Amino acid sequence: MDDANPAAHAPAPDLSARLIVDRDALARNFQTLRKLAGGAETGASIKADAYGLGAAALAPRLAREGCRTFFTATPEEGAELRRVLGGGEADIWVLNGYHRPQRALYVENRLGVVLNQAHELAAFAQEPTGACALHLDTGMNRLGFSPRQTEELIGAPGVLDDLDLRIIMSHLACSEDPAHPMNAAQRARFMALAERLPTARLSLANTGGVMLGAEYHFDLVRPGIGLYGATASLTRPHPFEPVVRLEAPVLQVRALKAGDTIGYGASFTAEREMIAATAAAGYGDGLPRALSGKGFARIGGQRAPILGRVSMDLVVLDVTGCEAKARAGAPAVFLGADLTGTARDADTLPYELLTGLSQRPARLYEGAP
Ligand SMILES: *Cc1c(COP(=O)(O)O)cnc(C)c1O
Repeated sequence: MDDANPAAHAPAPDLSARLIVDRDALARNFQTLRKLAGGAETGASIKADAYGLGAAALAPRLAREGCRTFFTATPEEGAELRRVLGGGEADIWVLNGYHRPQRALYVENRLGVVLNQAHELAAFAQEPTGACALHLDTGMNRLGFSPRQTEELIGAPGVLDDLDLRIIMSHLACSEDPAHPMNAAQRARFMALAERLPTARLSLANTGGVMLGAEYHFDLVRPGIGLYGATASLTRPHPFEPVVRLEAPVLQVRALKAGDTIGYGASFTAEREMIAATAAAGYGDGLPRALSGKGFARIGGQRAPILGRVSMDLVVLDVTGCEAKARAGAPAVFLGADLTGTARDADTLPYELLTGLSQRPARLYEGAP
């Protein structure tokens, strides 16, 4: 225990990190995407529990903002979404395909089925559960009918005739880079195939696709990450507002002398006198260990760089020069407007950072439900 800073003895009002999610910012991001999408309908990708931020707390607000089409990865997520939307008329699509043993989940929750391959289509067509969509693979090589399999489908008339086919979709591999030739190539492949299939609404764009411009919008766009305040690009500016911040209270403040080390592995050595604050967040909360010695929090708006290793429950910050603000109990703020920079520092993407947030920090939702 070091007595250099009297603030170290101030009582901490709360010792635990909390995750604060701003629903008004989410709503504004949805409206921004809507404007960008022009005449296309703007749906919402809300898979992985709304990218880790809590679908139950966010989906109803999106619905109130006028969102009526949602995309989940799994039928379980779709069923949970139907529940939190209180039933309702929203269209919920399950991206990961059709698995016959889960038929009841699709039926009971009125989940739209995205068909990704021939055997899913065959199983679905035997006993349809309701509406379906067709996913064409135009270059991602992940999910969907390959161009050759799509040709087979086109060459087998009647297969799609009795189905309630609502959407023909594909997914862009490089939409965060407007200069990438994959974008135009995928768009051209998508259009060439779709026009030979039965008429349905067309959907190609995720957040990056929405930002590529009108020729990528078609009838329905499916943004996810933009709603939550980021894009897939670590370098390009974007119009989305921060939605989430992690607030970790400072637990202890200490003065260091030259030669003192910090944390596991003694990986940081002070070269001069400095003030360090220990805050209550670590990789157990989803603050990546890759931020060890990189990245920063903000305390009272000022940058406090991470010193040494991020541990499970704690992280040490350099608060030299902002000691007055870095009192015990003061929140050290991670993510927020620094989400993309933090992802870059951790050698990852905002997507992984958000979905990696753990359930330990209490979630606090600001703004109207
Ligand atoms: C996740 C996903 C989206 C949303 O992508 P963002 O980059 O988060 O906007 C759209 N479509 C499909 C098929 C997806 O898997």
